[in-house]
Amino acid sequence: MSLQTRTPLVAGNWKMNGLLSSLDEVRSLVKILKSKQAANSEIAICPPFTLVGAMAECLRESDVAVGGQDCHPDQSGAHTGDISAEMLADSGARYVIVGHSERRHDHKESDLVINSKVQAVWRAGLVAIMCVGETETQRDQGKTLDVVTGQLHNSLPDGATAENAVIAYEPVWAIGTGRVPANSDVAEVHAAIRGHLKERFATGGEMRILYGGSVKGSNASELMAIPNVDGALVGGASLRAEDFDAILEAYRP
Ligand code: PEP
Repeated sequence: MSLQTRTPLVAGNWKMNGLLSSLDEVRSLVKILKSKQAANSEIAICPPFTLVGAMAECLRESDVAVGGQDCHPDQSGAHTGDISAEMLADSGARYVIVGHSERRHDHKESDLVINSKVQAVWRAGLVAIMCVGETETQRDQGKTLDVVTGQLHNSLPDGATAENAVIAYEPVWAIGTGRVPANSDVAEVHAAIRGHLKERFATGGEMRILYGGSVKGSNASELMAIPNVDGALVGGASLRAEDFDAILEAYRP
């Protein structure tokens, strides 16, 4: 399937930011979206757990989907402080980010744990946005492709399809730093991810591969034009409606 037939996804990751008052930004975004030509992409925002339900309510009449930023592998039980994928679905989420580098690092999440979380997302009928990416040291050591394909091999379960899984390539050193890899480096990693997906999955050619790491309005068009880049996972620039909308410009005719 060609690039044109993969509907791009632009997903915002609010991380540990946002209070109920921040929903005003979401209302502003809906207003902006209504006032402009529709972007040729799907849009999602992944707020902290505390806002998933309220944001879903806020976005009910819009085409903007809501996602969680993590989930526990189990459906329910004695896991103080954790949230299940079923709870996210119940709150109105459609997507769940899994395996973000901040979780891999801060919570020592292994590929095995991430694999079980992706399966939990599917059990709840949601779509996993599964993150992979190398650290700066790994890039300097020439290990980028091995790291990324290794993460895919171990974290992405066998049942992945174009409908239940989205891959986000996020070089760890580019997250929140303002630094972005060269276009040729992005192209090389996305091509390797595409190769892995095609080899393993019947719909590997149709799965979306997002780029994430310091995406903003000023670099989105260039990044989104790279072959096999099917959208973006956006951190900092997703917090303000105008900044997020500037990224969507990349997909406006
Ligand atoms: C992210 O957290 O997934 C991310 C890409 O952050 P930023 O856009 O701020 O680099």
